[in-house]
Amino acid sequence: MMKYKRVLLKISGESLCEPGGFGIDDAQTREIAEMIAKVCKTGAQVAIVVGGGNLLRGKTFSKDSYIPRATADYMGMLATVMNATALREGLAISGQPARVLSAIEVPAINERFVRRNCISYLEQNSVTILAGGTGNPFFSTDTCAALRAAEIDADVIIKATKVDGVFTDDPVTNPSAELIPKITYQDILHKDLKVIDHAAISICRENNIPIRVINIFKENNISDVLAGKDIGTLISNQ
Ligand code: UDP
Repeated sequence: MMKYKRVLLKISGESLCEPGGFGIDDAQTREIAEMIAKVCKTGAQVAIVVGGGNLLRGKTFSKDSYIPRATADYMGMLATVMNATALREGLAISGQPARVLSAIEVPAINERFVRRNCISYLEQNSVTILAGGTGNPFFSTDTCAALRAAEIDADVIIKATKVDGVFTDDPVTNPSAELIPKITYQDILHKDLKVIDHAAISICRENNIPIRVINIFKENNISDVLAGKDIGTLISNQ
């Protein structure tokens, strides 16, 4: 029995390349796609919001550049369209039908995001990859994940990261940092923990959408969350 049926999976652009690397790595993207295809076989409905940080982040890119922030953000949104396209091909190879629905219209490659279409594809067991972020500069794909989760009535957001969940400090630089198994939205905001951006947390709090922060590189983590196992960190109202 599954605890969660419809999941919004947020994966960062960096999940598609070597840690700290740049671009879209073939093997890495195939691995992620294969993992997602397996999750779908359990009957879960999976909508994915993919980031673009492996290619371009607007804020960093526009710093010390002649390109203004808003323009750089649009470039970042286009980066997510490229990632989404690569992921769709990876899913196809794994035998999992997937559609890219984009908030930024690029009609030659994919269709635009329409809520009803997204839900209907999910009900037909097609993965939906939601590209182009929110379609607005000055937002992040985390915020997009929260908005879309609310919009499509997702049961849970899974935020896939490189580490095991939310820690008391950065586990990469501080080996004595401890995993926090459970935390409230309020505490994330209050302690200014940088795991997911604050606009996203506010939307989830308002709409009571639980967030699970997990390590994407551990086999079965996603299916285990959907089965109701206590993996990583749960961010919720309690
Ligand atoms: N972006 C944006 N509006 C959105 C979502 C994303 O302007 O609604 C831009 C922004 O420049 C961001 C980039 O797209 O830096 C890539 O997204 P993000 O940084 O969230 O990717 P991730 O860190 O998850 O790979």
